[in-house]
Amino acid sequence: MTEDILRINDLSTRFFTKEGQVNAVERVDLNIKRGEVFGIVGESGSGKSVTALSLVDLVESPGEVTNGSVEYRNEELAEALRDEYPDAVDGSFVDLRAVPETVRRSLRGASFSMIFQDPESSFNPTLTVGEQIAEAAEVQRRARANPRSTRAKTRGVEYSFSSYLASAVLPSRKFVTNSSRERAVELLEMVGIPDPVKRADEYPHQYSGGMLQRAMIAQALAGEPDVLIADEPTTALDVTIQAQVLDILADLQEETGMTIILITHNLGVVARMCDRVGVMYAGEIVEQGRLEDVFENHVHPYTEGLLGSIPNLDDVGGRLQPIGGNVPSLIDVEMGDGCYFADRCPRAMQECLEKPPDFDGPGGEEHVAKCYLADHPYDETQALSEEYFESAGARVTDRGDSAGASPGEVSEDD
Ligand code: SF4
Repeated sequence: MTEDILRINDLSTRFFTKEGQVNAVERVDLNIKRGEVFGIVGESGSGKSVTALSLVDLVESPGEVTNGSVEYRNEELAEALRDEYPDAVDGSFVDLRAVPETVRRSLRGASFSMIFQDPESSFNPTLTVGEQIAEAAEVQRRARANPRSTRAKTRGVEYSFSSYLASAVLPSRKFVTNSSRERAVELLEMVGIPDPVKRADEYPHQYSGGMLQRAMIAQALAGEPDVLIADEPTTALDVTIQAQVLDILADLQEETGMTIILITHNLGVVARMCDRVGVMYAGEIVEQGRLEDVFENHVHPYTEGLLGSIPNLDDVGGRLQPIGGNVPSLIDVEMGDGCYFADRCPRAMQECLEKPPDFDGPGGEEHVAKCYLADHPYDETQALSEEYFESAGARVTDRGDSAGASPGEVSEDD
């Protein structure tokens, strides 16, 4: 079996706002394997993007990662840090939350890279696209040449030390070298930009949305990262361009063997790209497993609701089945004691209100769900009353059909 490249344990991120403490990410546990595409899926506001930002330490004030560890497998890095930070190193893993910020920063671009959903606002409109990609490549080359940087300790030196010193002494000399420019053209070609030499000299406004998204992928690949985090990389694109961008990502992943964490609310994208999936709701991962487990043998009613709300071409004219209600408030004092999905769940039971369910494995450790139905069948005698849902805001709109449809099936199959 492929080894884990990331072990995320008990990760929590809070935002300290005037309205109160917002629990945006709540005790997330994830293991990401080397070379896989892992999808994180959920509605807007479920905590997907904040989880990604927490992994790479990019959460900004008033947010803060308050708990947990992010362990990254990198033997050279572990060796380089073992003596100085013994508590942060466990075999080949380094807990990135237990090392200084300078170390985490040095891994951005090189070990971890991120593609954001809005390329227009991510590129500087006053510099050519080629310059901006070359700059990313140059930063990585210089970091490798700096003998004091963690990058130099973990990767080969490709930019000479004398050049590094010259850059430090003469900061005004041109930042981007010819070889970085050539690398930018190479990267643009890799992501399928036609006539990359000419296109490298153009400005972001001369690119279409799809081309700019590809250019952003090229920029993210400049440091040859181990892990690429793609946050809704196709949301702003029309479907044909979306398909092209996904093909590029899939091809690059196959060629380079990098790990991709794909964040999306689009289950079609997940089905097309991912090996394993984590379903997020109210800041928690509520179900995770292999793609086929989650799509075909899901346990959590929220996963079922997400899958039920996908349009079906075999049922033209049929009605979509939306999940009733809204994502709950994540403000600490407003969150209940039990399962956060209870107010919207067609199979909520009395016990669901009393304490939050733990992860249970309907498919062993590989397929787990945070739901009592992973442990035992739906118990109709424990069903919550209609009065409860009315007093909770009547957030479940279609309990009748759903509640009766499959409680037995889901549990007995497992
Ligand atoms: S724990 Fe209960 S309320 Fe929560 S999803 Fe499972 S059945 Fe529904």
